[in-house]
Amino acid sequence: MKQSSYAIGIDVGGTSLKCGLINQDGGISYSFLFPLLNVTTEGEVIALINAAIRKCAEQAQGQVIGVGIGFPGIIENNTVIGGADNLPGFENLELGKIIAASTSLNVVIDNDANMMGWGEFSYGAAKHCTDVVFMTIGTGIGGSLVINGALYGGYRNHGTELGHIIIQQGGLACSCGASGCFEAYASVTALINDYAIVKGINPDGINGRTVVSAYHAGEREAVAAMSRHFDHLATGVASLVNVFSPQKVVLGGGITESGAFYVQEVRTRVQGLAMPAASKYTTITGALLGNQAGLLGCGGRVFSMFSTK
Ligand SMILES: [Zn+2]
Repeated sequence: MKQSSYAIGIDVGGTSLKCGLINQDGGISYSFLFPLLNVTTEGEVIALINAAIRKCAEQAQGQVIGVGIGFPGIIENNTVIGGADNLPGFENLELGKIIAASTSLNVVIDNDANMMGWGEFSYGAAKHCTDVVFMTIGTGIGGSLVINGALYGGYRNHGTELGHIIIQQGGLACSCGASGCFEAYASVTALINDYAIVKGINPDGINGRTVVSAYHAGEREAVAAMSRHFDHLATGVASLVNVFSPQKVVLGGGITESGAFYVQEVRTRVQGLAMPAASKYTTITGALLGNQAGLLGCGGRVFSMFSTK
C-alpha cells in the first residue's frame, strides 16, 4: 500500500499565522491559527513558525516531505528581502535556511500572493491549466502568474506586482509610493473611499460588504461606485489578458465571493476591452479556495518541488 505523504503549509499574514497539514490531493487534514497581534519581534515570529511546524508534524500519519511558507513582500531564493510592513524585522533574512536548520525539512518560501495563485492552480479554479493570471482583490491587489505550468516572478522573483501596473498617468496616490496604480483604483479600499466621498461619509465606518449590500438594494451612489469599480478592474484585467493571453484569469479575495454578478460584471467589460485574439482562449472566473488558497498553495509547492515520484 502506498504510504501517504504530507506537506506542512504556513501562511504568514499581517494578523495571524495559518498552519496546516496537507495531503497530496489538496486535503487539509489538520489546521490551526496562531494570532500575530501581540508579536513584536522577528525572533518571536520565527519561534511561532517552528512551533507550528512541530505541531503539524505530530499529526502526520505518514512522511512529511517539506514545509511551504507564504510570506508577505519580496522573497528571493528563500530569503525574505523585505516589504512586509506589518511584521517586525525580516529584512534580508535567510528564513528558508533558518527553518530548514531547525526542522531538518525541505523548505520553500514564496510571496503570499504567489502561494495563493499556486493553490488555485494546483487544486482550485485553474486546475489543469498551464497559463494563469491570478489576482486577489482586497485592501490592495496582489497577483501572481503561472506561465507554461511554472510560477513566473520576474528576475530574482522581484516582479509580478500586478496591482501596480499603472492605469492612470499622474493618478491617485498608491501605497507603493507611485501614483495611478491599478490597486489605487480597483482595490476594495479604493471602492470604499470612492463610495464614502460620493455619500459624504467617513470611510472608516464602512467595508466592502456595506457597498455591495447598498448596490444590491439599488442605491444610486453604490450602483455608480460599483460600476466604476468594475470599470477599473476590467481595465487592469484586460491589459493583463492582452500581455499574457492566459487560459484563466482567477479573481480572488472576499469581495469576489459576494455573488456570481461580481465576476460576470468584470467578464462582460473585459470582453469589450481586450484584444479579441489575446482573449480568445481566456476565461475569467472566481477563485474556488477562498482563504485556504495560500495554505494549499504552500502544500502544492512542496509536492511539486520535493515529491520523489
Ligand atoms: Zn502602486
